[in-house]
Amino acid sequence: MSKVIVSNLYNSEVFIMACRQFDRAADAINLPEDLRDRTKYPRRCMAMALPIRRDDGSVTVFEGYRVQHSLTNGPAKGGIRFHQDVTIGEVAALAMWMSWKCALVGLPFGGAKGGVIVNPSALSEGELERLARRYMQELIPFIGPHLDIPAPDVGTNEQVMAWMMDTFSSHSGHVEPAVVTGKPISVGGSAGRREATGAGVAYLVTRYLKDLGIPHSQATVAIQGFGNVGSETALALSKQGLRIIAISDYTTGIYNASGINIEKAVDYVKYNRVLRDFDGGDAIGNDELLGLECTVLAPCALERVITPEVARRLRCRILAEGANGPTTNQADAVIDERDDIEVIPDLMCNSGGVIVSYFEWLQNLQNFYWTRDEVIAKLYAILDSAKEAVDYQKRKYKFSRRLAAQTLGIARVAEAKQRRGLFP
Ligand code: GLU
Repeated sequence: MSKVIVSNLYNSEVFIMACRQFDRAADAINLPEDLRDRTKYPRRCMAMALPIRRDDGSVTVFEGYRVQHSLTNGPAKGGIRFHQDVTIGEVAALAMWMSWKCALVGLPFGGAKGGVIVNPSALSEGELERLARRYMQELIPFIGPHLDIPAPDVGTNEQVMAWMMDTFSSHSGHVEPAVVTGKPISVGGSAGRREATGAGVAYLVTRYLKDLGIPHSQATVAIQGFGNVGSETALALSKQGLRIIAISDYTTGIYNASGINIEKAVDYVKYNRVLRDFDGGDAIGNDELLGLECTVLAPCALERVITPEVARRLRCRILAEGANGPTTNQADAVIDERDDIEVIPDLMCNSGGVIVSYFEWLQNLQNFYWTRDEVIAKLYAILDSAKEAVDYQKRKYKFSRRLAAQTLGIARVAEAKQRRGLFP
């Protein structure tokens, strides 16, 4: 029987959700009892008070976290989120998913995640820079190219990564590009990293469309979230001839049955920061978007948007999880029960980002840089093997595709722990 022990420290809905996923997967593969808790719970975390001088001369203290879930298979790896709703429990859940995701796609990394409770759009550029630098400064003893390697996540971007790399390098006394990934190309970023997560989502969507025999020209797409992942997914899919009928961000949704001009939408957001008042279609609510009739629904924003109620009224053929943890445990059960939706689970669907982060780290360590074509070809090759492994596991054990991905990832972390042994 599954059990959910909830740590007081991390207690939150999203952490409980990740724990339930772990318990279900551990039961499904009969993971030995004495390996369970040490594979499940985060290894360590840092909580930081981050005082920042504001532009008006006052000081504000922000709270930030870094959770290192696993360091068993290599340095910890995972993004840093700047968002007003961040909690340490959410960061811990996201760190757990990073461990399973890296293991699933075969990267030599453990999992971590960071977060700061802040609405980054309420800060000036200078305040954002000071916050990013202070966050990195506090983490210096716990971060490094062979220890823990941050990257962008919701609310952070390549400029934030550049400031963090600069802060760490100033401390080291030499350039240390491999300490963070998702940097601008001019300071050691990888060709293809900015678009990697969306390119991966789009690639897997086209692979599953092919399996289902649905031609691109007949496929319609609705995308929730128009940040880095949602916008790059939309661009990549529209370039491949799919019709993007709906997009949204936290300000509005846009619906256009004959297809939204995604390049125009991306340009609009570049200048206006959000989709509000974009005239590429009719306004639609986020909730309505999730229930649209479409071939592909891609939630690309935050966790837990697909609740059981939403799951019952989904009208998509493929659910492509660009976000981490968009589907609650109960919603997942509804989708399994319905059995008419192909789920591309988050662990695999959005893994393109961390895969190309791995390439960026390798290029930094070797000081030898690859072309975009090389990066994308290597990305697709890893996604192909992950898809094959997940679909094989699904067929062999009659698992859902989500359970197949989770069991593969978790089993690999657990096996490494078992082989390394428990010290002392
Ligand atoms: N934040 C991204 C994720 O959730 C990327 C992490 C990384 O590149 O390390 O997978």
